Amino acid sequence: MKVTYPKLAELELRNKRVFIRVDFNVPLKLVGETYQVSDARRIEEALPTIRHVIEQGGKVILGSHLGRPKGQFNLKYSLEPVGSYLSSVLGKDVLLTEDCVGDAPRGLSHQMRAGDVMLLENLRFHPGEEENSSEFANKLAELCDVYVSDAFGTMHRAHASTDGLPRLTKNRAIGLLVEKELKYLSPLKENPKRPFLLLMGGSKVSDKIGVLEYFLPKVDTLVIGGAMAYSFLNAKGFKVGKSICEDKQVQLAKKIIRRADARNVRLVLPEDHVVSLAFGDTQNVSVTQGIDISDDKMGLDIGPKTIAKIEAALETAETIFWNGPMGVFEEPVFAKGTFEVAKLIAKTKAVKLVGGGDSAAAITKAGLDSFFDFISTGGGATLEYLEGKNLPGLKVLEIIERT
Ligand code: AMP
Repeated sequence: MKVTYPKLAELELRNKRVFIRVDFNVPLKLVGETYQVSDARRIEEALPTIRHVIEQGGKVILGSHLGRPKGQFNLKYSLEPVGSYLSSVLGKDVLLTEDCVGDAPRGLSHQMRAGDVMLLENLRFHPGEEENSSEFANKLAELCDVYVSDAFGTMHRAHASTDGLPRLTKNRAIGLLVEKELKYLSPLKENPKRPFLLLMGGSKVSDKIGVLEYFLPKVDTLVIGGAMAYSFLNAKGFKVGKSICEDKQVQLAKKIIRRADARNVRLVLPEDHVVSLAFGDTQNVSVTQGIDISDDKMGLDIGPKTIAKIEAALETAETIFWNGPMGVFEEPVFAKGTFEVAKLIAKTKAVKLVGGGDSAAAITKAGLDSFFDFISTGGGATLEYLEGKNLPGLKVLEIIERT
């Protein structure tokens, strides 16, 4: 049995109204009184599909969510800043609709000419989007003749625009971004070139446990940093002070340690830490001498010995997958571990892949994008895909070939 997906190149697009589900859920910053896009990676990554539809004479109708407006209009989550950014990079007008469904966008969709671009206002301003309501999906279906799924970062959600709508649309395909994500993530999932080093950081073991478990039979070295590491250190009997560490996470960490031991996977954990007295305390910062953290301190970044240890571990790897920051990298005093690790990975000869918004943002901030083979636009979706879960937005488009 072979699973494939219909491709954008196979679709007839001329004069067709093409709904592209994009993931324009991008970070915004307030400049004066207006919001601006502060990290445009997801918009940039959607451009190949948008340009393809324009070049083929299609009418581009873009649908996305932004943030969590909880089913009602909220100016803070308007896609207006995205529309402005898109218009400037495409060099053409992008019409932002006031509402994403109803008479107005439907009327406009029929007035569009080949090559026009219309951006629907935030899909999550309607509760029907997240509820995957058939009524809302039907309203979206009125806007288009063709459906293209290019929102990889949202494919782990069965929402109206990722699941209900494609079920109602006969002419449908995955977009070029989703094709690219699968091209890199699928071989990583199935058969990573060994030695394979998996580097995980961030805060929650529970979010990453699936990926850790899935890769244990395929991985040679497992490096754990970030807040997650304290559950592992606690599980091994070290003192973690006030660092983030919950009982449930420690139990999960114990399970991973046991399985890694049984499979001879090398587990690399922090040997020193940048600590302070509390989360947000940037005044009383120090570096521990060893692994233990005193009762009054909280670990907020990996220390220099750990960075050196990670550097040595990276040396022999042929494949590296990195997800999650090594510390509270949003705060400059706790950012060194994450940025140093980004630089060290960039220097290796391995195939280098990254998933998750924080690690990707650190790489971009350090100007290292071009050193990486692939930076996934997904966070949760990438992890779920890699741990072998079905992504509803992908599943709905599957073509099963019996071999
Ligand atoms: P995640 O979404 O699980 O990848 O977690 C990312 C978050 O983990 C970031 O916002 C970091 O600030 C946070 N983080 C990383 N290391 C630590 C730490 N040592 N203590 C508290 N938070 C951390």
